[in-house]
Amino acid sequence: MEHDIVIGFCDTTLRDGEQAPGVAFTAEEKLAIASALDQVGVQQIEAGVPAMGPSEREVLGRMASAGLRAEVVAWCRAVRSDVDAAAASGIRRVHISIPVSDLHLQYKLGRDRAWARGQIHDCVADALDRGLAVGVGFEDASRADDGFVIELAGELSRAGVDRLRWADTVGLLEPSGAYERMSRLVAASPANWEIHAHDDFGLATANTLAAVRAGFGFVSTTVAGLGERAGNAPLEEVAMALRHLLGFRVDLDTTSFRALADLVSRAAGRPVPAGKAIVGESAFIHESGIHVDGVLKAPRIYEPFDPAEVGARRRLVVGKHAGRASLRYALREHGIDADEGVLGPVLEGLRSHASMLKRPLRSSEVRDLYELAAASWAAGAST
Ligand code: MN
Repeated sequence: MEHDIVIGFCDTTLRDGEQAPGVAFTAEEKLAIASALDQVGVQQIEAGVPAMGPSEREVLGRMASAGLRAEVVAWCRAVRSDVDAAAASGIRRVHISIPVSDLHLQYKLGRDRAWARGQIHDCVADALDRGLAVGVGFEDASRADDGFVIELAGELSRAGVDRLRWADTVGLLEPSGAYERMSRLVAASPANWEIHAHDDFGLATANTLAAVRAGFGFVSTTVAGLGERAGNAPLEEVAMALRHLLGFRVDLDTTSFRALADLVSRAAGRPVPAGKAIVGESAFIHESGIHVDGVLKAPRIYEPFDPAEVGARRRLVVGKHAGRASLRYALREHGIDADEGVLGPVLEGLRSHASMLKRPLRSSEVRDLYELAAASWAAGAST
């Protein structure tokens, strides 16, 4: 079942992703990643923080004039000097972030809700006066009073803010509670809502989907989930789950996902974990006998979707958990029509080899094992 609504993506790999500890992109890397994100087709690229200084502003300016289809967004705190810096960079859209939980307001800033209200209205008015398009982010919304957030949402929408980001800054949501809470939020304030979820409990994707089901129209993601602490909702997981689990139309070139994750992972100096959903090296590798047998009969028996959809390839490997079907398949690649009587001893041999080597066997190693076993079987049979 397909939904008509297209969910918008605001990718923040270049802003929140880069805030991951130890990650620092060069200007050229930022431009290359922006161009790759643009080719994938995200609607917005949150590209950096102009207040960081002149070199960051220069990159933002180059990106804004690079002819991308995606809108380039500059991230600002709710202070006038940040909006000044954004305007100076040549960017045409700002995201202005304001903490809304009492925890952040009192303990981080020594302020209160009245201050937050005054500050965000002042900065929004300033940005709109300069002709900038403006979105506002409610930092730590998950620990804020929903009544306060709803009031601000109404006021800001009337003032001309065209997007409101609801940030689960510390990743404290869980999906069923999130769905109920966000449904109430959308009903109380029919603004253009965006969900920004962190993965501290491994629930960023689940919470993002819950928000979309509750009526949020935009999602904030990063490539492979790169971001502060445990990271953000991964672009690839959210896109593929929206398409395959919730039945939304996803207008992104998902076939570039693997290449995009590799590009970002190299620039970030962080390998993508092998078992990472969608973009991990192992996501479409099959080893166990039962699974290989199934996949050879019909891939969908053990695959949620065709790996080609995300630019990946299916691989069948022969390791400790191999069975006869995988062995026969591997040998056929060497033009060997395996002798059934030899398969048992070969499986035995390759299990001990794989355990010793702590890896699947190479194709040539499987062939050698088979040929050795076949020779000794033939010798045994002839005596
Ligand atoms: Mn964040």
